[in-house]
Amino acid sequence: NSRWSLKGMTALVTGGTRGIGYAVVEELAGFGAAVHTCSRNEAELHKCLKEWEAKGFLVTGSVCDASSKTEREKLVQQVASSFNGKLNILVNNVGTNIRKPTTEYTSEEYSILMATNLESTYHLSQLAHPLLRASGAGSIVFISSVAGLVGIGSGTIYAASKAAINQLTKNLACEWAKDNIRSNSVCPWYTRTSLVEHLLGNKEFLEEITSRTPIDRVAEPEEVSSLVAFLCLPAASYITGQIISVDGGMTVNSFN
Ligand code: NDP
Repeated sequence: NSRWSLKGMTALVTGGTRGIGYAVVEELAGFGAAVHTCSRNEAELHKCLKEWEAKGFLVTGSVCDASSKTEREKLVQQVASSFNGKLNILVNNVGTNIRKPTTEYTSEEYSILMATNLESTYHLSQLAHPLLRASGAGSIVFISSVAGLVGIGSGTIYAASKAAINQLTKNLACEWAKDNIRSNSVCPWYTRTSLVEHLLGNKEFLEEITSRTPIDRVAEPEEVSSLVAFLCLPAASYITGQIISVDGGMTVNSFN
């Protein structure tokens, strides 16, 4: 059934070598898409590409620091030439965090977080726009965070960058619907990845997190990537501009 398939479609997933991005690459490739991904570490990227090849997935990759303007331009040029100027799916997954009290941030830290989380996703969407439009059916998914919706004490700059991504999602949905491009945002709560494993390894911290979560545990990356894939399927063709949490019920729970 073609409504539940990505066969013949192309995708760019940023930051696909670990965590949520890795799971998204596998999920989209599993539905039949040809996927291009990137990360900053060449050795790790090649290790992943080999794993995917062994699984029979169509995945290519290039080294790219998504926080660099010139590297983003190179990345999208590469994608344009390998996918014949057409792209169905852009998953803006790259993001990072620096956790500290607001009064302690330096201006360099502000710049790093905004360049990596917000400017990269905005600019990659802008660069990919002609390719997404040319595909005839484009879908952008932003990996945002519940930190962009509610205060979770994970750092103010990160939270502001994710909230901005949520509004970017809504604006692009309205502006680019005429080009048959949909735009949605997925907001995870704590998910077992390299970004947060040091935090989740702390028993007290983990207990505090799960005590706020009706589904009494953190998420696995595959529980986030499944929603990302759904939003890219033809089956989701009327869904755009939405901000959807994958949070085990955390944001609707005010009991703790
Ligand atoms: P990880 O740090 O585990 O993985 C990040 C991936 O992106 C790696 O492949 C990394 O490779 C790559 N990456 C990081 N920075 C860059 C960069 N500047 N340029 C290119 N590639 C980069 O992160 P997660 O999977 O946990 O997070 C993915 C997204 O999900 C982020 O946007 C994060 O904010 C969001 N999120 C995560 C949550 C969680 O609990 N894990 C909760 C809510 C949101 P390399 O370092 O080699 O470049």
